[in-house]
Amino acid sequence: MSGAEVVGMSGARRAVFIDRDGTISEEVGYVNHVSRYRVFPFAAEAVRALNSAGWLAILITNQAGVARGYFNEALVGEVHKALTGELERGGARLDAIYYCPHHPSVGEPPYRLDCDCRKPRPGLIHRAAADFRLDLARCWMVGDRYGDTELARNAGLRSAFVLTGYGRGELEHQSRAWRHRPDLVAENLLEAVREIVKSSDE
Ligand SMILES: [Mg+2]
Ligand SMILES: [Zn+2]
Repeated sequence: MSGAEVVGMSGARRAVFIDRDGTISEEVGYVNHVSRYRVFPFAAEAVRALNSAGWLAILITNQAGVARGYFNEALVGEVHKALTGELERGGARLDAIYYCPHHPSVGEPPYRLDCDCRKPRPGLIHRAAADFRLDLARCWMVGDRYGDTELARNAGLRSAFVLTGYGRGELEHQSRAWRHRPDLVAENLLEAVREIVKSSDE
C-alpha cells in the first residue's frame, strides 16, 4: 500500500465518511432489491474529488433490513457492487464500505443485537480508524440525517449535513430540537466535498 498521498502533515490519514441512503444514493426506503437502488448523478464526481485530493472515501451505513429479515447480507453486497461499479465507471473509488446489519430489538440472532456499530454509535468509525490508521479529528462525516451528525459528535469527527434524502425535511422541521449543530450544511454530497476539501487546503 502506497499511502503517501493520504498522509497529511500530522502523519495520520484523513477520511470523509459517507452515509449511503439519501447521501450517495436516493433514499427509497429499504433497498430490498438491487433494482431499487439509484446512485445520485453527482456521486462519482464527489468521490473522485476526494480521491484526487488525497482523502480516503469510506461508506458507512446502517442496514437493519438484514435484522428485520427484509433481505440478506448477499443483497447488501449486491447493492454495494452496483454502487462501486457505477462509481468506477465515473473514475471514482471508495476505499472501504462498512455496514451494520443489526437491530437492537427486532429479528433473530445474530442480527438482533444491541451492537456498538449501529449509527449513531461509533463502532464502524472505530473499525475504520484502526484499519486505516485515521486521525479522526481530521475526518468528516457526511449524511442526510441528524443521526449522522450525532455519530460525528460521538466519534470526534466534523460533520456535514446534506439536503438530499431526509435532509431538507429534517432541517426544516426538526432541527430546532437538535442538540448539536453540523459543522457544515450543503445542498448535496458534491457540494459538501468541495467545501471540505477547500477548507482543509489552508
Ligand atoms: Mg441516510
Ligand atoms: Zn451493528
